[in-house]
Amino acid sequence: MKKDELELLIRAKNPIISIETPDEPRAVRVVREVVGKMSRPLAEWSVTEGLVTAPPAARSELVKPGAILPALRYVRDSSYPIVYLFKDISPLCADAQVARFLRDLYFSPDSRLWTLILVDSRGLPPDSRRLTVPFDVGWPDEEEMKQVVQEALSRAADQNMTEISVKLSGRQMDQLVQMLRGLTASEASRLVAAAVHDDKLLDANDLNRVMDAKRNRLSTQGCLETMVADIAPEDIGGLANLKKWLNQRRGGFSPAARKFGLDPPRGILLLGVQGCGKSLCAKVVASAWKMPLLRMDPGVLYQKFIGESEARLREALAQAESLAPVVLWIDEIEKAFASAGSNSADGGLSQRMFGTLLSWMQDHRHPIFMIATANNISDLPPELMRKGRFDEIFFIDLPRERYRKTIFTIHLRRRGRDKEQFDLDRLSKATEGFTGAEIEQAILSGMYAAYAESEEFATEHILEAIEKTRPLSVVMHESIQSLRVWAANRCVPAD
Ligand code: ATP
Repeated sequence: MKKDELELLIRAKNPIISIETPDEPRAVRVVREVVGKMSRPLAEWSVTEGLVTAPPAARSELVKPGAILPALRYVRDSSYPIVYLFKDISPLCADAQVARFLRDLYFSPDSRLWTLILVDSRGLPPDSRRLTVPFDVGWPDEEEMKQVVQEALSRAADQNMTEISVKLSGRQMDQLVQMLRGLTASEASRLVAAAVHDDKLLDANDLNRVMDAKRNRLSTQGCLETMVADIAPEDIGGLANLKKWLNQRRGGFSPAARKFGLDPPRGILLLGVQGCGKSLCAKVVASAWKMPLLRMDPGVLYQKFIGESEARLREALAQAESLAPVVLWIDEIEKAFASAGSNSADGGLSQRMFGTLLSWMQDHRHPIFMIATANNISDLPPELMRKGRFDEIFFIDLPRERYRKTIFTIHLRRRGRDKEQFDLDRLSKATEGFTGAEIEQAILSGMYAAYAESEEFATEHILEAIEKTRPLSVVMHESIQSLRVWAANRCVPAD
């Protein structure tokens, strides 16, 4: 249990413990609970409040609000068993005196009796973090989230001075709790309050609203996006080997598989030419295994959260954990971590990010199936390919003739056409070197041409579109060829 871990860290006399979390109120609650259980006094510092004694003790100001140094001096000089909780000190760590003070506290004699806990949402600078033992407060689990929902409902009832009626079956309530996971307790509470605000009613209609709000939240907040995965394995042409592999592992997260002695599957790396169905595969796995699909765009971490990229990556991974079981799809992994393989000019940021991802992949014990996709491997750090990181590395090549036939069939069917009306042999022969996406595009262009001419859509229209296409395999001949050579001895063919 998480709280026991924190108690252990305090008892082990670690001088400085750090908690990095966007959910500060929850972290403070956990610290108060643990310290209270240990019957130790607690004092809390913030720039606006100063250093004050925390509940259940009566509030008393130990150090005035404002500068942090007098408060740190107070900590250093205290000579009784007390826990100090300091909020938001990461921006202050840039100050040489603060940094020095933290180092002094870190090297304080073992006989000291105090413990300093730093709670921060931004992530401490690396030099200061090294002085601390990190404690992961985690995300609210199901039990805690149920409690958050109940508390939000009774608060709404108090504020509106009226009853809030709940018309959700037990299953729907479980669904609601599941949807709220991956949010902080206060965000979840606000969503529930908003859902009942107008009609004083919590019912099945609110489930969709909550889901939409959560989807928005995840996408604006970080680099995770919940995706709709409504693709069946029959919607992918070819990739027989990959489909078989995935099919064999579909029950891999079940307790029965564990009992059988199997380790749960961890993930795959899909390498291949653009438009050959890598993204499609991520969606198929999620829908066939009945798991939600989370897409992570690591490139966003660099563009949107300059200076906070590492903390955001950790947060995204923790969010994925809180939503497990999930399929976590890292799209175009090479774009984010490629420079980690070379001497990058970003001050080692991509290397640190990459290190964070690798150790997470190694250490996490959650039912998360990771699908990383990549079009280009030349720059990817070799550590990523090392055996044991992924269960398997698959190479998705351009589809062969008979699979091109299946891809034509799939996309004609999707547009309400009967394959019998088309000459699939000619079409598949004419599309040598085409990707699945290019085949789909040729069908679409052909349909537009037929529609514009008010003609019945036929093989000839598609052939004309094919004629006009310059496929990627021609335009990017060299790079595709070298990808194939690279993959030949290192990857399992997906077909
Ligand atoms: P990118 O690297 O550009 O994201 P990708 O390899 O992930 O490409 P997808 O996005 O999965 O490719 O494919 C694009 C579209 O092409 C799909 O939505 C699908 O309609 C079609 N397609 C590609 N491959 C196949 C296939 N094997 N079977 C059926 N459709 C396919």
